Amino acid sequence: MATKILIPTPLRPYTDKKDAVDADGTTVGELLADLTRKHAGLKAHLYNDQGKLRSFVNVYVNDEDIRYLQKEQTPVSPADTVSIIPSVAGGVDKAEKGYGPSSTSAVAEKGSYPFSRSVEELPQLTNDEVKRYSRHLIMPEVGMDGQRRLKAGSVLCIGAGGLGSPAALYLAAAGVGRIGVVDFDTVDYSNLQRQIIHGTPDVGRSKLASAKDRLNAINPHVDVQTYEVALSSENALKLFEPYDVILDGTDNFPTRYLTNDACVLMGKPNAYGSIFRFEGQASVFATKEGPCYRCLYPEPPPPGLVPSCAEGGVLGVLPGVIGVIQATEAIKLILGSGQPLIGRLLLYDALQMRFRELKLRRDPECPICGDHPTIHALIDYDQFCGVVPAQTQHATTGVPEITVEELKAKMDRGDDFFLLDVREPNEYQICKIQGAKLIPLGEVSQRTGELDRDRDLIVHCKMGARSAKAVSLLQERGFTRARNLKGGILEWIDKVDRTQSKY
Ligand SMILES: [Zn+2]
Repeated sequence: MATKILIPTPLRPYTDKKDAVDADGTTVGELLADLTRKHAGLKAHLYNDQGKLRSFVNVYVNDEDIRYLQKEQTPVSPADTVSIIPSVAGGVDKAEKGYGPSSTSAVAEKGSYPFSRSVEELPQLTNDEVKRYSRHLIMPEVGMDGQRRLKAGSVLCIGAGGLGSPAALYLAAAGVGRIGVVDFDTVDYSNLQRQIIHGTPDVGRSKLASAKDRLNAINPHVDVQTYEVALSSENALKLFEPYDVILDGTDNFPTRYLTNDACVLMGKPNAYGSIFRFEGQASVFATKEGPCYRCLYPEPPPPGLVPSCAEGGVLGVLPGVIGVIQATEAIKLILGSGQPLIGRLLLYDALQMRFRELKLRRDPECPICGDHPTIHALIDYDQFCGVVPAQTQHATTGVPEITVEELKAKMDRGDDFFLLDVREPNEYQICKIQGAKLIPLGEVSQRTGELDRDRDLIVHCKMGARSAKAVSLLQERGFTRARNLKGGILEWIDKVDRTQSKY
């Protein structure tokens, strides 16, 4: 009898798109060995070169982390369900976002827990506020004192994007007295499918200006503070200082680890959320009693191993659900009511419409919140996450290139060459270069038989990064005449064929 292993979305390309795979074995180690025998592509994602399970991949038997059972020796039976839970960044490439430089910074004094305000020092509500919050005031779990706690409370939203948008809207509506928003982006048409704090007339405006207008319109009693900066090791402690709760709506690993570490160092709770395609995660980290993000994922995945939302896409309503869960947790923490998501990782699958909950523990060996921490100040998170700055990234791809103008000239001359598109089928449906054959990057190595080594081969993707990988792979296989189309199809549309849609 086989045991069922649930496969998360980012790893499904390696299991023929299956969301669950049956594997044989009496221990977790045997099951995973059988799984990687059946689906060899998974191996590099689950194990490092030394054959050890990678530290950004967690394995659960039912709702329990195997690190707290018998690790890979944990016995399993067909009645158990095994889940693989990798870390997901939930956003666009950091290089595109121009995340600022980072370095070490002094450790702040651990702040007092924000919810120890005495009733006497809480602000009073005005008559207008009493009317506005009447549905809260008649609830015993909030009531007058609770609403005054919300008015005295403050939340800093990291990002006014997919998660920050719904979270900030509800925090403002609920009457959280001070809401800070950190962002430095402008509103783009492609944001509107999920970032509901912004509207069509806001396209081109700064996200902060747009968010502030919207929040003030919902509730003029709320003090909205905006910070037009990239969160960095230099500014994080200072930015977090005046807030009770930090709401992590980040979209990349360096900012995620930075947010976690700053919260732990300052003793501020982190209402965490992350999203990928149609799956989300939420938890509350960095409280005195609970674990932190590093307890769950000690290390980030190497760049490029886990696709970002910009590459993988995201269902527009998904960040709505996760962002509102984050806001709910922030409100509960300020009120001091209910059971917060401390020590629990909530998983949401929108396609199956299923919530699952996994146990999280504080790791005594955690480098920042463990018993003998080795991290006492913010570090260089780009370096920690192995992120190469954008300029050097292009310089080191080192594959031969061709410009879109040169490609157009070749076409006009009627030169003989083969044009290969390595994007995904859904992207091909949006726009394509006439005559291009589609072989998604993940399939190129198995389908080289469909290509000719004796012809010029021009490879393109959306912006040039995936096709550069394909060119270097093809060169290793003897396709010495392969070249990368610089700037990808987006540049082709900009400079050659403006009739097609960009995405
Ligand atoms: Zn920790």
